[in-house]
Amino acid sequence: MRPTQMIVITGAGGFIGGHLVAHFREQGGFAIRAADIKPTSEWYQAFPDVENHAGPLDGDVRDFRVCRRLCAGASDVFQLAADMGGMGFIENNKALCMLSVVTNTHMLLAGQESGVKRFFFSSSACVYNADKQLDPNITALAEHDAYPALPEDGYGWEKLFSERMCRHFREDFGIQTRVARFHNVYGPNGTWYGGREKAPAAICRKVIAAKRSGNHAIEIWGDGTQTRSFMFIDDCVLGIRKIMSSDILEPINLGSSEMVSINQLVDIAESVAGVTLKRHYKLDAPRGVAGRNSDNTKIKQYLGWEPSTTLRDGIAATYAWIENEFDALENEAGGRAAGSLASSSFGHGAKAIPGDGFNPESRHLDTWQQGIPAGYGTAVHQSRSPA
Ligand code: NAD
Repeated sequence: MRPTQMIVITGAGGFIGGHLVAHFREQGGFAIRAADIKPTSEWYQAFPDVENHAGPLDGDVRDFRVCRRLCAGASDVFQLAADMGGMGFIENNKALCMLSVVTNTHMLLAGQESGVKRFFFSSSACVYNADKQLDPNITALAEHDAYPALPEDGYGWEKLFSERMCRHFREDFGIQTRVARFHNVYGPNGTWYGGREKAPAAICRKVIAAKRSGNHAIEIWGDGTQTRSFMFIDDCVLGIRKIMSSDILEPINLGSSEMVSINQLVDIAESVAGVTLKRHYKLDAPRGVAGRNSDNTKIKQYLGWEPSTTLRDGIAATYAWIENEFDALENEAGGRAAGSLASSSFGHGAKAIPGDGFNPESRHLDTWQQGIPAGYGTAVHQSRSPA
């Protein structure tokens, strides 16, 4: 009998990671190791029949010892763990975003050391040169538009650096890395309030809040003309599978090419909800680049496929899920939640990891030593020892 393939999914308590675990579980035939720094009670999707590594001691992939345990005997790694959020979060937490370089480095090192067959890295459209995104009527971004490098400050620079690390680990050490640049993923079972949510979830939530409170108004970040494309989660999961099993060596776009303005996104959410709201534009809020869309020429060439769920269908599914969550929260709060959920916050310097799972102790400060390739660490250590 063929041994069961062991796959590792980090960031499994998050939005995309949770859906990927659910997908592999449904497919069957895989042993799944799922890891996240949050305790399982805070995961969007947690399955008891999966090997779960949760919480700061067992699931924090900044810690090289955890990465080693996760990668031991594994065949494929999906590295999705990242400290991230929507525009409000990444513009105000650049250092936290850059710290994901530790998780990516340690997972790559552990994967290479364990001899994993394939390593998937989730990059982002935030790697693209900002100068190519100044116009809302932007020509879609093709893969070569990442250079010369001028990515989103903090988050984008970290992703671009980690993309290159994947490439050099493949070229120098032979680990088979695959890199996808996700463009705005949305869908059920993801962050929808709290400051890390992205535009589609935030807009659905605000429309629901307006309906529930009877105050038929909505706050929109920026002037609403900024353009984006949004990819439904089912397309994202399918794309990850396709890219991982392909021969595509360079980073490739994984996004929808259906570009809309934020105003159009609000139109869609309103029509799903059956309401029309008065729009208030918050011009001092983070709004990101003026225009961004995914050029899918390459993915179509390679795979004969591109994400195809329409925004209308995807928002209908997302809206329905958020509405349920909203009502559950509203019941818990005795009907007082709608007011606070009508707007979004973008505070500075949030704590490092959401939820109670964050370990404030400095146990991680020693991980830099563990990330150093064999032999080198000893030399550094010796040179520091008293004579
Ligand atoms: P998410 O925030 O829902 O999930 C990320 C998960 O990583 C969280 O559950 C978090 O607790 C976990 N995590 C953070 N630090 C960790 C650590 N040190 N150890 C273990 N787990 C840790 O985000 P998502 O939307 O599911 O994104 C998944 C990946 O896709 C990320 O790398 C993200 O940068 C990338 N991405 C997402 C989008 C998008 O639109 N959602 C777009 C571009 C790229």
